[in-house]
Amino acid sequence: MAYRTLAGSQSGLVDNLIEVGVVRSPEVEAVLRSIDRRHFAEGADWAYMDAPQSIGYAATISAPHMHAYALELLLDQLRPGAKVLDVGSGTGYLTAAFAKLVSRGGAPGKAVGIEHIPELQRQAEQNIGRDEALAQMMRQGHLALVVGDGRKGYPAEAPYDAIHVGAAAPRLPQELVEQLAPGGRMVVPVGPEGGMQSLAVVDKGADGSVRRRNAMNVAYVPLTSKDHQLGSASDSD
Ligand code: SAH
Repeated sequence: MAYRTLAGSQSGLVDNLIEVGVVRSPEVEAVLRSIDRRHFAEGADWAYMDAPQSIGYAATISAPHMHAYALELLLDQLRPGAKVLDVGSGTGYLTAAFAKLVSRGGAPGKAVGIEHIPELQRQAEQNIGRDEALAQMMRQGHLALVVGDGRKGYPAEAPYDAIHVGAAAPRLPQELVEQLAPGGRMVVPVGPEGGMQSLAVVDKGADGSVRRRNAMNVAYVPLTSKDHQLGSASDSD
């Protein structure tokens, strides 16, 4: 489900996402309007096109409609003061949007982005640095970008009210399910590399029970090892 509309500005892009019904809530509208995709897709010819853009290292910044879907699906969990993990944070765009929502009104929320390519993590920090409001959130500890294998989650800050996975896992990652707080929700594409995957919505009940449904079909880059992603012969996955 791709809406390949082309807008000339961030606000034009958000207008289009509202028109096609992807952006539904005022909270998601506001946060998307406030973070300019141009800062995160530097060098991309079509920063405001509703399509993924290459960011190097066999990674992409996800299409704006996928960012919007993820935010809408997680909105109940992204309440002020909540804790979020963004696995495969790439450019840092969505991590920044999560951080803004959970620190609304001066709340002590925190979003952690975990990315396994160190160069991409550094680029993400530079992207954040182009927006003073986001840079300040980083200094205040509402937003953190770490390097590591996101398949294992990030136990140091667990549990999380919301977990977003921006790359496709071959099967539901149990370590991430374990790091969900009671009442928490995870959005994760599950399925084979190079094919269509299901965007799974995983809810953990107050009693720890886990329910899963599939929201839609998607096509994401794989959640994998660094070697495999970079096409190295030493791949062991
Ligand atoms: N939401 C990001 C998506 C980036 S693409 C954005 O819109 O910018 C998916 C990202 O997942 C890539 O940056 C890739 O390097 C990363 N990735 C893949 N496997 C990973 C793993 N095991 N651990 C951490 N990051 C991973």
